[in-house]
Amino acid sequence: MKITHDLHIHTSLSLCASREASAAGYVALAKQHGLTRLGFADHYWDERIDGTHAFCRDGVSGFYNPQNTAHIEQLRPQLDALRGQGIDLLFGCETEYDPYHHGVAITEEVAETMDFIIVPNSHTHMMMPKELYQPYEKHAAYMVNAYREIIESPVSRYITAMAHPFQAVCCPYDNRILISLITDDEYRRLFDRTAEKGIAIEINTSCWYQKTDAEVEADPVWHLFSLAKECGCRFTFGSDAHDHQVHSVYAAHTALACRLLALREVDLAIITR
Ligand SMILES: [Zn+2]
Ligand SMILES: [Zn+2]
Repeated sequence: MKITHDLHIHTSLSLCASREASAAGYVALAKQHGLTRLGFADHYWDERIDGTHAFCRDGVSGFYNPQNTAHIEQLRPQLDALRGQGIDLLFGCETEYDPYHHGVAITEEVAETMDFIIVPNSHTHMMMPKELYQPYEKHAAYMVNAYREIIESPVSRYITAMAHPFQAVCCPYDNRILISLITDDEYRRLFDRTAEKGIAIEINTSCWYQKTDAEVEADPVWHLFSLAKECGCRFTFGSDAHDHQVHSVYAAHTALACRLLALREVDLAIITR
């Protein structure tokens, strides 16, 4: 099975992305790499949701305040102008776990207007108080709780996929340590519920960008994905591209994932097909 979608792409509207990253650039590359569906998911916090207290880290409000609805909506007309070239273009967002309200930083009103929504439980570099980095168990427990609050939130029915689940971003130590600190029973409880809710699990290829195939195969994250598959979760793929480079290895990594997890078309979320 060849993966022809990428449901996790950032443009320069994301403050952390390359200033060169454009929808037009991605569309041109998609043609070269045989991708037929691109989902744009710039970082987003809905300004209708008070973030004042949710921002656990210095500078996070500075990061999300400008990335509001009007800001990400600038992409919609750009996508409209690029239609008709044989590539499906989806307008979505990577919104955030909101620890203060125990939910997700998007209102139903906005969620309804999106083609898809992805939410991470693992932006702990921004959302988690620093003192929870150690002992590692506290960090893992934070992500378990965040995951549960996301999938049980009032907007959960709008969530397409859990972005890079349990893969703590910008972790000051090897974030793979955390994956093995969560028990299979705990994963199963969460993934059973994820499957029930019709939320997919994202296979995010960005962490493998400069790794060898052997290193990718040894990644403990496969165990987590296997459990999700056993629980009946469906999957989406995402490059988490912040520039135009990553698609050069995307096909190799998505093919490896399909082989290691023995994925079939039926295992993919409907939106990807
Ligand atoms: Zn992310
Ligand atoms: Zn992202």
